[in-house]
Amino acid sequence: MSQTERVYLSSPHMSGHEQKYIQQAFEQNWIAPLGPNVNAFEDTLANYCGVKHAAVLSSGTAALHLALIMLDVKAGDEVLVSTFTFSATVNPIVYQSAKPVFIDSEPDTWNMDPQLLEQALKERVANNTLQKVKAIVVVHLYGMPAKMDQIMEVANRYGVPVIEDAAEALGSKYKGKPLGSFGKLSILSFNGNKIITTSGGGALLCNEEEYAIKARFLATQARDQAPHYQHSQIGYNYRMSNVLAGIGRGQMEVIDKRVEKRIENYNFYKSSFKSIEAIQFPDLPGTDYFSNRWLTTFLIDKDKTEVTYSQIQEALEKYNIESRPLWKPMHLQPIFNIYEAYMNGTSENLFASGICIPSGSNLADAQRTQVVEVIRQCF
Ligand SMILES: *Cc1c(COP(=O)(O)O)cnc(C)c1O
Repeated sequence: MSQTERVYLSSPHMSGHEQKYIQQAFEQNWIAPLGPNVNAFEDTLANYCGVKHAAVLSSGTAALHLALIMLDVKAGDEVLVSTFTFSATVNPIVYQSAKPVFIDSEPDTWNMDPQLLEQALKERVANNTLQKVKAIVVVHLYGMPAKMDQIMEVANRYGVPVIEDAAEALGSKYKGKPLGSFGKLSILSFNGNKIITTSGGGALLCNEEEYAIKARFLATQARDQAPHYQHSQIGYNYRMSNVLAGIGRGQMEVIDKRVEKRIENYNFYKSSFKSIEAIQFPDLPGTDYFSNRWLTTFLIDKDKTEVTYSQIQEALEKYNIESRPLWKPMHLQPIFNIYEAYMNGTSENLFASGICIPSGSNLADAQRTQVVEVIRQCF
């Protein structure tokens, strides 16, 4: 089969109804960061994620930034955060001149290790610096739920609020509850490569109305109630456009189908590589876990093969197929390696042996089959 069009890891997949909502925005001239699409998209998201409030914003990064500001994270404070993630999880901590403290993963979910989290908190109690820890940011990477019972138990015991970074995990669940509904505040992303997209965008989720009101206020330049323009706080221009929220409404109509298809991709790949012992898929750790399988990933067991992920990546690239190593942990990044890190080796092992393969909900059967064939040829 000749391959002309690039096969992406995850590309936008419209439902066909997005333009109806964009059209309405044009007809009613709601071409602004407020309007009926913004309100409806917020209601739909809150309902889907099992929270009382959603505030839609210009990006997931903006949502995290506002979450940290609302938890009073400022210069010199500490935020305990998963090291195995995308840089956008950590950047807003540094925007606030606070210090990220990296927590390694556990091998079952690849997400924050509750024991290392506890160790970091315990040491701070011993050193009498717990009051500097303003938040814990836990990431659900590739859609896999973190061990939320254990993490929430530790966080509550030490009295530190949790922010869930569910940017990759819309539609995932833990013990039947949607991710994004566990933290005091949670964030979603609708960037172009996420499970649904608004081209660019994000959301802040919460149960306390106060936070939703505050987030909308900060996201629209923190304008006080006054006839003139008056400001007593620093504001941001972080609100989502009503035009883009129209895309979000159309996308939410098909979210369950998108999740279904991503899981189907994962199952297809897993069964296709059953005979290759060196390929290991990240199974769900138990019935408490439901992953949207945003990206299909697998690990290559070095004891069983000489094949490396870069060989697989090169082979796929020859057919114009995108693939990518797993996220490079933040404590290894040149910009973040100065910060304290609680390590057990898990994220470094994952980074050294894992790969992401095309996982979009719009992937054609022939494309998926070709991905499998190219990888099989490597072994
Ligand atoms: C995409 C992503 C973000 C950031 O979202 P943007 O909308 O791109 O700003 C944050 N955290 C994780 C884990 C992500 O994958």
